[in-house]
Amino acid sequence: MGVLVVGTVTLDTVETLNKRVEDVLGGSGTYASVAASFFVNPVRLIGVVGTDFPQVYTDFLQTRNVDLEGLTRVENGKTFRWGGKYAEDFNVRDTLFTELNVIEDFHPVLPAAYKDTPYLFLANDPPQLQLSIIEQVKKPKLIVSDTMDFWINEERDALQKTIERVDILILNDSEAKLLTGETNLMKAARTILRYGPKRVIIKKGEHGAISITEASYFSAPAYPMTQVTDPTGAGDSFAGGLMGYLASVGDLSEGSIRKAMMYGTVVASFNIEDFSINRQKSVQFQDIKARYKELQEAVRF
Ligand code: AMP
Repeated sequence: MGVLVVGTVTLDTVETLNKRVEDVLGGSGTYASVAASFFVNPVRLIGVVGTDFPQVYTDFLQTRNVDLEGLTRVENGKTFRWGGKYAEDFNVRDTLFTELNVIEDFHPVLPAAYKDTPYLFLANDPPQLQLSIIEQVKKPKLIVSDTMDFWINEERDALQKTIERVDILILNDSEAKLLTGETNLMKAARTILRYGPKRVIIKKGEHGAISITEASYFSAPAYPMTQVTDPTGAGDSFAGGLMGYLASVGDLSEGSIRKAMMYGTVVASFNIEDFSINRQKSVQFQDIKARYKELQEAVRF
């Protein structure tokens, strides 16, 4: 079963204490589709780039079997650019700039072949764009969406309309608090469930992720890492891995969702070992499986 990912495809400038990289391949859609591609085929990507977007990056996505029929290249357009800087412990990130560029006028029409993809992941993107995709797909089995502080602050009303239509909302702890105005995370989760989603998954960085429904609570640990190079895209990799696994098993039981969170955690752990999607280039499925087994052991008691 396939996954349709809608998200940004960007050129990122990232600064850590040790290194600065410029115009590297990034974007929520990129990280999520690469992560999903470890588990399932096809992974279809809806996104937009400008003529400045290097061909080598598109070539790479093709090597991961990401279907790029839905990736629009705007003539004379400039690709979305984002810059971020991390503090020493990687827990704090400052966004240095967000240049929306071609995404501001992007109104995608879904290719016919994409319309009945059963698993839809709306990665970080303008909420109006997320909503327009929900309106074009034919009854997917699952709609999952991510969002971030930028859209909560800039496009609150449109975001609320999108949230009402999704089955699972994934966001990080500070974003859940920002979205709801609650300071207690569990209260924030309960408030989000009242907005419409049946489940909310809250990412807590190096402290793992939790899943909350009206009837269940699950806590997934993060993979214990001693070396972090660049956490950019960890959240998107988590969500992409989760979607890819769910699509590969075709089952949405509580048990499968918990396993999917563990697989997402593992893909995210590889992602943060290098800049951009560089680490994913050498990861094999057996590497993912090995870390998954370690996590299984870590929570057994
Ligand atoms: P994460 O580290 O999971 O928050 O994802 C970072 C990625 O999201 C980077 O590659 C950015 O290019 C991309 N990004 C940053 N800001 C936005 C935004 N407002 N909307 C969509 N994608 C974004």
